[in-house]
Amino acid sequence: TTVLGIESSCDETAAALVTGDRVILAQRIASQDEEHKPFGGVVPEIAARAHVERLAPLIEGTLADAGMTLDDVDAIAATAGPGLIGGVMVGLVSAKALAMATGKPLIAINHLEGHALSPRLADASLAYPYLLLLVSGGHCQILLVEGVGRFRRLATTIDDALGEAFDKSAKVLGLGYPGGPALERLAAGGDPSVVPLPRPLKGSKEPHFSFAGLKSAVLRAHQSGEYAAADIAAAFQQAAIECLIDRLRRALARVGDVAVTALVVAGGVAANTAIRNALETLAGEHALPFIAPPLTLCTDNAAMIAWAGVERHALGQSDPLDVAARPRWPLDPDAEAVRGAGV
Ligand code: ATP
Ligand code: MG
Ligand code: FE
Repeated sequence: TTVLGIESSCDETAAALVTGDRVILAQRIASQDEEHKPFGGVVPEIAARAHVERLAPLIEGTLADAGMTLDDVDAIAATAGPGLIGGVMVGLVSAKALAMATGKPLIAINHLEGHALSPRLADASLAYPYLLLLVSGGHCQILLVEGVGRFRRLATTIDDALGEAFDKSAKVLGLGYPGGPALERLAAGGDPSVVPLPRPLKGSKEPHFSFAGLKSAVLRAHQSGEYAAADIAAAFQQAAIECLIDRLRRALARVGDVAVTALVVAGGVAANTAIRNALETLAGEHALPFIAPPLTLCTDNAAMIAWAGVERHALGQSDPLDVAARPRWPLDPDAEAVRGAGV
């Protein structure tokens, strides 16, 4: 099978062709970083317009790169949420039009499921169930991934997502947008022990994350004028890692009797090398394999959407052409609401 995937939920316009045996035949990504840079964050109206302008030629180019036409495609998968609704609509409506014109099945994909299953595209040996740290621009969750569409959320953030905390801290330090990768580079030359920063919820009996206090502490440390930016960046990253590891230890203890196959990380923040290294050590302590997708599959891309489509197609699943775009769409609808949290 070959599935065409389309991603447009935030500020990447992307298309990809992925096969059932995990080959990415072609993929194209158009980033809108330049468009949003002057505003220090993603502007929804600008994003939606950019998706409209770029998506059709991007899909055509991706098919051309693979030497294929839509006739060679078995299904069309598109992100249907969660995300900026204007952008999601652009991708989903395009997918519907292609499905209608060709008679191929449409598969509506939850963007978070795309992130969550991306490690299985990269690593054929990764079997369900696995323990997943999903860390992205909008989310910070620990999930037990039991199968396609089968997620048990063990923890989420009660305030900011980790990527958001990286981006806001980077902005405070004058690193521009998007800030995560720039903050990681700056941190590499800093001393994490110089700046005292909090570890919110570390040691707490609650399973959740909190990063708003850490972000505010970065602002205060910067405003005090006492510290070098590199030291603040290093201290921030160190504090974030300690929080992640502490919360994961708790989750690992809680799933104790479930035989998870691996500790897995996904989402844009999974591109961070220091975080990957800390997770690898933690996995080793628990005698678990550690699996992280390559960096290009961590940040937003369409290959992960096409792959989620491959998995759903293999189960005989598709969606009606009137399937709705969803700005909010939790992976685990049974998870208890958490105060102040998104999904
Ligand atoms: P979501 O998937 O929750 O809807 P999103 O799609 O905007 O959000 P992703 O593209 O998955 O998020 O991830 C983008 C985030 O990853 C940004 O916050 C970015 O700063 C962060 N990020 C990317 N690379 C790194 C890095 N090396 N270190 C830390 N953060 C990073
Ligand atoms: Mg982006
Ligand atoms: Fe994402």
